[in-house]
Amino acid sequence: MTTEIVESAPTALIDRFGRRITYLRVSVTDRCDFRCVYCMKPDQRFTPRDQLLSLEETAQVARAFVGLGVCKIRLTGGEPLVRRNVLWLMREVASLPGLDELVITTNGSRLAELAEQVRAAGVRRINISLDSLRPERFRRITRKGDLAPVLRGIDAALAAGFERIKLNVVILRHRNHDEIPDLVRFAVNKGINISFIEEMPVGQIGEHDRAEVFYSSDSIRADLQSHFELVPTTETTGGPARYYRIPGTETRVGFISPHSHNFCGDCNRVRVTAEGQLLPCLGQEQVLDLRRILRGHPGDEAELGRIIRDAMQSKPKGHEFGPQANRTLARHMNVTGG
Ligand code: SAM
Ligand code: SF4
Repeated sequence: MTTEIVESAPTALIDRFGRRITYLRVSVTDRCDFRCVYCMKPDQRFTPRDQLLSLEETAQVARAFVGLGVCKIRLTGGEPLVRRNVLWLMREVASLPGLDELVITTNGSRLAELAEQVRAAGVRRINISLDSLRPERFRRITRKGDLAPVLRGIDAALAAGFERIKLNVVILRHRNHDEIPDLVRFAVNKGINISFIEEMPVGQIGEHDRAEVFYSSDSIRADLQSHFELVPTTETTGGPARYYRIPGTETRVGFISPHSHNFCGDCNRVRVTAEGQLLPCLGQEQVLDLRRILRGHPGDEAELGRIIRDAMQSKPKGHEFGPQANRTLARHMNVTGG
């Protein structure tokens, strides 16, 4: 670690619009054991392994960002728990001085085996994706997934003592929109949180017309009103979600609405793909190739820090998603690191 990076840490990553970047999301692989209809094509092609960042390179990137004031890192993918030796990476990242929180997003398929080890590696919080409680429907949405191991994985995560476990649900009209109250009831019974995410136009998926299946956060909230009392809260994770409490329960319900509510004004995050592309904004094509810098200047953390800092100046004011935008990004979500 260079002195230059450490000394400038508290104010290092500030973009042109005065937003301070404190949160990094890293995709550790583009591979996955599921092929969710909104995320990938059925015959999705994956990046050759030598083009992925090694775990050591990923740890180096994480160290550089933490040296520049990032205090929260999420490991995601693809499916992070299918990457070999990912527990090593978790331990490395969790032990970085200055990092407050290491969290992951997973589809839960391997959690029943790995939850305890992931917790022991230093991961504090975990988001688990769950779009249906019906096995056949779960299979149809994930194309390859089985529901039972995921449900066992949720219980294993509860037993392993993660803080504030959260379910992530993508609602698609006529696919799973009739399960909204059941999914919330499931979260309430488990004493965990749940967030509903509007489908984003990330990657050509071919499977459905995104406009046809769009189901807005406002519709989801309206569906829930007759089943639960939702009390708005001012709680924020510095991210795009709006939160509600259900009185008398432990459960917080979040809505992530890239279409219906633009959330860019408070954006505090950037992403790094499994290939080492730095994405200042999820909704833009613009990238910076960190792999080239890592491999062209091995061990030069000062150069890496300088380039990351400069890259923040190209973070755009906002994404251009929206029901009328009619625009799909070329990158798939498994590459972007959702
Ligand atoms: N495989 C892990 C999982 O599914 O949780 C982590 C990676 S996945 C890309 C992260 C999150 O992105 C998941 O909750 C998934 O539902 C969500 N996601 C994937 N494609 C999406 C899309 N087109 N729009 C909105 N959310 C999407
Ligand atoms: Fe895999 Fe997650 Fe994408 Fe589903 S959403 S295909 S589980 S990466």
